[in-house]
Amino acid sequence: MSHTGRHFLQIPGPTNVPDRVLRALSAPTIDHRGPEFVKLTREVLDGLKPVFGTSGPVIIYPSSGTGAWEAALVNTVAPGDKVLCFETGHFATLWRDMALKLGLDVDFVPGDWRRGANPQTVRERLEADTDHAIKAVMVVHNETSTGVTSRISEIRAAIDAAAHPALLLVDTVSSLGCMDYHHDAWGVDVTVCGSQKGLMLPPGLGFNAISEKAQAAAGKIDRARSYWDWEPIIEANRSGAFPYTPATNLLYGLREALAMLHEEGLPNVFARHARHAAAARAAVRGWGLDLQCADEREYSSSLTAVRMPGESGADRLRQIILDRFDMSLGNGLGRLKDAVFRIGHLGHFNDLQLAGTLSGVRMGLHLAGVPIKDGGLDAALDHLQSN
Ligand SMILES: *Cc1c(COP(=O)(O)O)cnc(C)c1O
Repeated sequence: MSHTGRHFLQIPGPTNVPDRVLRALSAPTIDHRGPEFVKLTREVLDGLKPVFGTSGPVIIYPSSGTGAWEAALVNTVAPGDKVLCFETGHFATLWRDMALKLGLDVDFVPGDWRRGANPQTVRERLEADTDHAIKAVMVVHNETSTGVTSRISEIRAAIDAAAHPALLLVDTVSSLGCMDYHHDAWGVDVTVCGSQKGLMLPPGLGFNAISEKAQAAAGKIDRARSYWDWEPIIEANRSGAFPYTPATNLLYGLREALAMLHEEGLPNVFARHARHAAAARAAVRGWGLDLQCADEREYSSSLTAVRMPGESGADRLRQIILDRFDMSLGNGLGRLKDAVFRIGHLGHFNDLQLAGTLSGVRMGLHLAGVPIKDGGLDAALDHLQSN
C-alpha cells in the first residue's frame, strides 16, 4: 500500500529529527581544524553541560551509544576488575555482555524485566564487598526495552550509605533530554549517551560525561585503549579541536538541537515528556491492557511498553499498523520478543502526534482482533485536554 503524508516514527529511538536540525545537518562541511570549527566545538560542549547537569567535561565520539558504553568501561576499569550490574532488560544485558567481553568480573543481579535496579540490593551487595573489589556499579537509567526507569539518586544514596568507593556508571541513551537528570548532583561518575533519542539527532554521536573521580581513575588503570581514550580528547577540546576527525555535520545538528532544548527550557521539556507518558498510560489502562513497568515510581517518560494479552503476537500487530497506517512502533527485544510493543513518545513530539499515534494503536488492536475495552483513546485525550 502506498502512503501519503509523514511516516510516524514512534519507536523509542532513533526518533523524529526536527526540520531545523535536518537543515542544520545539510550545511557544507567545513575544515575541522579551522577557526569556525573552534567556535562550533565550544558551543556544543557548553550547550551539553546543562543537559547532562554537569560542569565537568563531556566527551563527544563519532559513534553509536554502544561505543560510548565501551568508552565508559575502558577508561575506568581493567580486565579482572569486578563490576556490579542489574538485569533490568535487554540493554542492561547487552552492556553486561560487553563487560564480559572486555574481561571484567561481572556480578549481574537477576531481574524480571519489569523493575529498575533496586537501591536496597545495591547497598547490600556493596556492604558485603568489604575489601572493595567492586570497582564500578553500572545502571541503565531508562531501560528502553521495558519502559522502566531506575532511580539513580536513590542508587547514589545506597552507594553512599554503604560508604563504598565504587564508581557509578549510568546509561542515559534514551533518557537524556527527556527526563530530569543530574550528573553532578547525583554523584554519577560516567554518564553514557547517544544522539538519536532524546537529543533529536540521527544516530552517530556517543557521549561520556565524566566526574573528577572518573578522570582520576582513568589516569591510574592499567589497560590498553586508544580510540576511546578520554585524555587526548579532553586535551584537544581545550583548544576547540578533536584528536581525530569529528562528525562535523552531526555537530551542526547537535548545536541546533541543543538550541531547541534550551529555548523550550529543560524543565518544560521534562514536563512535556512526563505528560505525554501519562496520557499514553491512560490509554493503555483504558484499553484494559497491562504495562510492562510494574512499579509506578519507575514509569518511563520516553516510552511505554505494552504487554500483549493472551496469545496475540505483538509483531503481527506492529506489521498491521505499519502496513495500514504507516507507523513504526518498537518491537519486543530479547526475552520480550513478540510479547510487548513499545510506543516511543520522546524527542521532537507534541499532543496531536501522540493522539495520532494512539489512534493508530487503537485501530491496529481492533484490526488484529485483540480484545480491548472502549475508552482508552478518550482517556488519553482527556488527559491531554485537562493537563
Ligand atoms: C539505544 C540504546 C543503546 C544503544 O545505542 P546504539 O546507538 O544502538 O549503540 C544503549 N542503551 C540504551 C538504554 C538504549 O536505549
